[in-house]
Formats: sequence, C-alpha cells, structure tokens
Amino acid sequence: MAIGETVYVNSVREQLLAGRARLSDVLAESESEHVLRLLDEVDSALHRIEHGKFGVCEVCVGVVPSEQLAENPLLRVCLDCLTPKQQRALEYDLELAAQIQKGLLPPQEMAFPGWEISYHYQPAGMVSGDYCDVMKDDGHLNFILADVSGKGVAAAMLASNLRAVFRSLIPLRLSIEDLMVRANRLFHESALPNQYATLVFGRASNDGQLELANAGHLPALLAGKSGVTIFESNCKPLGFFSDDSVHVVRARMSPGDTVVLYTDGVSEASNPDGEEYGIEGLRRLIAEQHPSCCPARLVDACKQRLAAFRGTMERADDETLLALQYSPGTSAAIV
Ligand SMILES: [Zn+2]
Repeated sequence: MAIGETVYVNSVREQLLAGRARLSDVLAESESEHVLRLLDEVDSALHRIEHGKFGVCEVCVGVVPSEQLAENPLLRVCLDCLTPKQQRALEYDLELAAQIQKGLLPPQEMAFPGWEISYHYQPAGMVSGDYCDVMKDDGHLNFILADVSGKGVAAAMLASNLRAVFRSLIPLRLSIEDLMVRANRLFHESALPNQYATLVFGRASNDGQLELANAGHLPALLAGKSGVTIFESNCKPLGFFSDDSVHVVRARMSPGDTVVLYTDGVSEASNPDGEEYGIEGLRRLIAEQHPSCCPARLVDACKQRLAAFRGTMERADDETLLALQYSPGTSAAIV
C-alpha cells in the first residue's frame, strides 16, 4: 500500500473510531435498532480496514471508487453491484437531498433596496458542495460564496452545516473578524479531520462601504469604472485550524460597481483541448460586459460563455457565480 493510501486509510479509521464512540454514547442513553445497525456497519468497515479489504467490493471483488468511499466509508459494494432495490433507495435519497438543498438557496428574484443581485448555481451531480447566500441585516447586505472540500452528499451536508453556522452568526452583528473566527471554530468542530471550506464573506453598507474576507478562496472580483480589481485570499480556509486570525479588506463601491464571486467549477471549466477557462477569462468577460450590464445579464453572459467554452466536455465540478451591483439610485436604501 502506498504511503498516500496508508494516510488515507488511517484517516478513515480515525473517522470511524470517532463515529463509533459517538454511536456508543447514543446507545448508552437509549437502545435503538437503527443505531445498533449503524454500529454494526462501522465495526464491519473497521474489520475490513484491519484485514486489507477496505474499498474492495464484496460482490465483484472490484475496487469501490475512492470518491464513493469518501462520501460513504461504510460502502461494501460498488454502485454497479447494488441490487435494483438498493439503487432505487439511493436515487430517492439523493433526489430528496437535492430538493432540500435547492430549498436552502436564496430566491432567484431578490429584492434588496439599493442592490441588484443575481446568481447561477449548478451542481455537477445531484447535490452540490457549493454554498451561496445573501442576507440583509442591520442595514447591511451580507453575502457568502463557499466551496466545501470533497464531493457528493458528504460535501452537501457540510455545505448545509456552513449555512447554519453563518445564518446563526450574522444576526449577532459581530465584526467580520469575530464572525469569521467564530465560524471557523464552529465549522472545525463539526467537520471531519480532512474536511475544510474555502469562502468569501462580504458585507456592504448603504453608502457603498465594502468589507471582504477571503478564506483560501479564488480571488473576488470588483468591477468598477477603472476596471476589474482582484481581491486575493488573505486568510486560511475554514476548518483547517481551530483558531486563526482573520484579515479583512475594505473598499468603497461607487454606484454601478459590481462584486463577482465564483467557485472553481467556473474558473476551472475545461474545453475539449484540455484548456482551462481561467480567472483571466472570467475577468475579461466581466470587463467587456461592465458597466453597461446588470448582474442578471452578466451572470447570463457568463453561463453562455462557459457553455460555449466547455463544448462537448461534461461539467466536472459544481458551478456557482454570484454578482452584486451597488445601485443606490434605483430604490430606497437598505432598512
Ligand atoms: Zn462490485
């Protein structure tokens, strides 16, 4: 077994042992058939690890793909070897998870006085590890775009957890520094050892003051009259460390300026020649469209450009793009 594999299996073992301890605690409180069955499955996975059988399909003896194992380390068989009944149950669960996740997105038609906002959200599979949110509070517009490590249901669950963390912290009206430190702590406590999230959190006020914290995420772009300004990451991703310092950048937006956030599904989209769309491609597109363009048209133009660039290539990663334009003249200020 390669060193990388050993490290990976050791981390799975740790996760399983931690899960086993939690399940045992639950069982000590009250007997539950469901928890007993789960404990049995965890023990069986630990047994497979000890005997070098982890990741081997029990039916076809083929390899269970690592991305499927990362989503569910309790898997005993590869997807091809599931019975039709098991497959239907899995599809049903996934559809339900996708519906729940869609319900957690901000509405497409968002009415925030003084702001025009639009976004594009397209999971690569049924569910997404991207999290996009916009929330008004105390006269401020709060917005966030995050990308959780991993894929599939595990990433989607963590993205939902991240949403709960931010939605509960924003109304506390903390400084961004405090908010990010607390969010990091909460997220670190609930994530598994190898899970993390990169994100940009932003807060803007009625007079155009903009504050941004970029935690290991792709650069945020601010399109204004003098061109597109790039805000690189200035903090570590969430979940890496239990305690960390946060740097916030501040800028002033003029009417018509637009903040654009995106995930790597956008910047790393590739064409049949294996070329990446790139941050520069996105920056150029924004520079061309801005300032005559509203966020809805900008997002639409980006979707079309990406689809044309990708051509026959399949979407490899979750794709999210959020554009917010400061438009104080269009309606009353935020209240
Ligand atoms: Zn199989």
